[in-house]
Amino acid sequence: PMPIDSNAIREQFPILSQTVGACPLVFLDSAASTQQPTAVIDAVAGYHRSQHANIHRAVYQLSQGATRDYEEARATVARFINAAEPAECLFTRGTTESINLVAAAWGRATLQPGDEIILSTLEHHSNIVPWQLAAQATGARIKVIPINDAGELDLDAYRRLLSSRTRLVAVNHVSNALGTINPVREIIVEAHAAGALTLIDGAQWVAHGRTDVQALDADFYAFSGHKLFGPTGIGVLYGKRHLLEAMPPYQGGGDMIEQVRFEGSTYAGLPNRFEAGTPNIAGAVGLGAAIRWIEAIGLEWIGPYEQGLLAHASERLRAIPGLVLKGTAARKSAVLSFVLTDPPVSTLDVGTQLDLRGICIRTGHHCCQPLMERLGVAATARASLALYNNRDDIERFADALSEIVERAQTAASAVVEPTPTT
Ligand code: PMP
Repeated sequence: PMPIDSNAIREQFPILSQTVGACPLVFLDSAASTQQPTAVIDAVAGYHRSQHANIHRAVYQLSQGATRDYEEARATVARFINAAEPAECLFTRGTTESINLVAAAWGRATLQPGDEIILSTLEHHSNIVPWQLAAQATGARIKVIPINDAGELDLDAYRRLLSSRTRLVAVNHVSNALGTINPVREIIVEAHAAGALTLIDGAQWVAHGRTDVQALDADFYAFSGHKLFGPTGIGVLYGKRHLLEAMPPYQGGGDMIEQVRFEGSTYAGLPNRFEAGTPNIAGAVGLGAAIRWIEAIGLEWIGPYEQGLLAHASERLRAIPGLVLKGTAARKSAVLSFVLTDPPVSTLDVGTQLDLRGICIRTGHHCCQPLMERLGVAATARASLALYNNRDDIERFADALSEIVERAQTAASAVVEPTPTT
């Protein structure tokens, strides 16, 4: 492993060398989806070119090769998050499906009227709505950990919410809207002390630092391939073996059974029991390649590199008049969420004007409407960084924002006072 050479890294991302009109592409939306390096693009193309077949059932060599590739990807995932064994790593469509799997299979089988699930104000809709559906089906109730004005979880309030009624605590590792890095180890320890299980939404963490599900002692851990330099349509649900084994199936179909009779069926062991139907084999291959790529760079270098960019970007943005940063947690990932207030410029306008300059950011509620309500805004503009971003990206972005604000100021001061009617 060696320190990050962002120019060498950028060259591995063909998409980043394009221009939008006359402007170089500046991609600042990696919290939504990261771009893919040639190592991933080639692995997926290579699979399609010479290895593709349905897995598990055929005797012919091509299918056995595809099965081997798919299971190797699972082993790579297990090593990456330090799972005790590959069978604890289920392939899903992404974080959303991983959480729905737990909410549907574990939630509906376990939750009773009066049981409580603790979520937080920082959650993405995909870690809220599945629990609402499970609560509606079972009579369980949802409690919410509040945040302070910096966007950090109120841990004292969390401790007060925990009780013998708590069955599960489900929180994100990193907030997608604000970048807050949550003290998940501490949260898990407290939950376990209260006799509750934990689900960590790691969608915004896995690409930014080392993940060790055993050190965390997480019961469930979810993430998506497309935020980890891999393809869309593939993700992971990690679960402790004894918990997964005690859960009823999520979906029924081929591959997840042991024996099927019209009188009733028996189910396969892990991981097949939770992977009904033909999976996203090429996606798994791509995710495996993405993990090997990021491991070759060295996960320990990513955090410090991104924090350097974040510090510089924060300094530049703070110097822009009327720009208010939302989310100022002491520990945060490279996410800059902000609004322009003086003069006010809508986030939609900010996004559109930046796009005219080839700069991609996100605007809106970021699938976090309860959080937006708590912050007292309808939406924010969000720039999110990854290890292929560099100082030039930050300068272009900050210069463009300054220009947008200056123009808005000029327009505001040019408004002629209406002549009073006499
Ligand atoms: N949780 C968080 C914190 C996220 O950022 C996202 C993606 N924006 C999700 C869950 C949902 O992930 P996916 O759309 O890949 O299922």
